[in-house]
Amino acid sequence: MPITVIPVEGLPLIRPGDDLARLIVGRVAFADGDILCLASSVWSKAHANVRGLDAIEPTARASAIAARTGEDPRFIQAVLDESESLLLEHPFVLSVLPWGHIGVRAGVDQSNIEGGEVILLPRDPMAAAAGLASELLEAAGASVGVIVTDTCGRSFRRGQTGHAIGWAGMTAIRDFRGETDLFGHELKITEEAVVDEIAGFANLVMGESDAGVPAVVIRGIPPWQGHDEIYWHEGEDLIRDALCRVHEIAPLR
Ligand code: GDP
Ligand code: MN
Ligand code: MN
Repeated sequence: MPITVIPVEGLPLIRPGDDLARLIVGRVAFADGDILCLASSVWSKAHANVRGLDAIEPTARASAIAARTGEDPRFIQAVLDESESLLLEHPFVLSVLPWGHIGVRAGVDQSNIEGGEVILLPRDPMAAAAGLASELLEAAGASVGVIVTDTCGRSFRRGQTGHAIGWAGMTAIRDFRGETDLFGHELKITEEAVVDEIAGFANLVMGESDAGVPAVVIRGIPPWQGHDEIYWHEGEDLIRDALCRVHEIAPLR
């Protein structure tokens, strides 16, 4: 079966309290095994996971960082509030979030929202994905996997791509270890981050600006087996350790 990608067209501007599952189910005929990719920005708007800059009082730390990066100290404060620790303060803030993700500006967005407000990443993206999956089951009667996505930068390469930050109904990683290649050699290393590959394609279809397509359905990917350990454990992430040795950044709290 070919893989089909279906943009969910015609969704309105999402406001706090909107029922995303109902809005989406009204625009797509779901089948069991489909995967719905949803932009985290839209999940957060529906769940009022946003902040007004006016209500933010920046700390001295936020003001000092903002002076170096040339950003609004209140925006930097919102970034620090979402972060567990920082890996970089300058030329941009690179944050470790409590759930393991590492992202530029803690994934706090100022685009696709009214001026003066910022969009935060979901505080528990796995629960966000699981919640939406069960709402879709209820509303559509179909067993649909969910990937909550965000557009993220990467190490080593220029350009942002879609990443999976939460998922339900699948494992993050397809584990190829133990399988054999075309020549019968056993694969010893390969773990494919399938959720990121799917999120990348969905993100391509969503675009970044005013397309108004925050949800994309992917149909026809056969199920896979693996595990959810997409974030390196303490001490496994050599690049992060190297960054910490070069830039000694004070703890946040
Ligand atoms: P992020 O990657 O999760 O930070 O989300 P983006 O801000 O890049 O938006 C992804 C897609 O969703 C783009 O096509 C936006 O135009 C669209 N989008 C963002 N907010 C809304 C909204 O409230 N309603 C609709 N219909 N589309 C939105
Ligand atoms: Mn974003
Ligand atoms: Mn995006």
